[in-house]
Amino acid sequence: MTRLLLIGPPGAGKGTQAARLAEAYLIPAISTGDIFRSNVKNETELGKKAKAYMDAGDNVPDSLTNDLIRHRLAEPDAQAGFLLDGYPRTEDQVRELDDFLEGHGAALDLVIELVADPDVVVARLRKRASEQGRSDDDETVVRHRLDVYRQQTEPLIDVYDARRVLVRVDALGSIDDVTARIVRALADRGVPQP
Ligand code: AMP
Repeated sequence: MTRLLLIGPPGAGKGTQAARLAEAYLIPAISTGDIFRSNVKNETELGKKAKAYMDAGDNVPDSLTNDLIRHRLAEPDAQAGFLLDGYPRTEDQVRELDDFLEGHGAALDLVIELVADPDVVVARLRKRASEQGRSDDDETVVRHRLDVYRQQTEPLIDVYDARRVLVRVDALGSIDDVTARIVRALADRGVPQP
């Protein structure tokens, strides 16, 4: 049973690494951003509520996000562990996740921080904007997302560090190198690959 969380600024490569780690550790990668995007695409009620926040680069309100993740974590595939990508993003979400996990007699094993320089992530996101056309990858929105990250999400790193579950991994370099670094860091902290 492995419960992991990937945290880091937009553009650090969380989505890419989450997909690889999910395969390597046989757990589902759960990305609130992906779930929101698919709801927007399918024009669900949740998608309609979330869209304006996402397009502006703001966090979707905690009330919507917490509800969504509670349902997702209750699904059968998440019972054997999971890798969270992009959740929690606020202190309120940390409390919500703590409550949920405690209610199931569980806790996060490790939190992986992908460490990346802001200039590098802006350049990466500019590239993604031209390749994938994501509506929130426009330059001004990207800068705003980084500010939102700094204000609302970065403080969570200290929270998890104080709990002694934080591992820091340099997010620069090739995709393979970063994955290898994460796998090594997890093994060093007692989370081996299955
Ligand atoms: P991401 O794919 O993680 O960069 O998320 C894309 C967008 O989805 C964010 O800019 C937010 O608008 C929204 N979003 C994703 N995860 C969360 C979350 N945990 N809390 C609030 N908003 C979120």
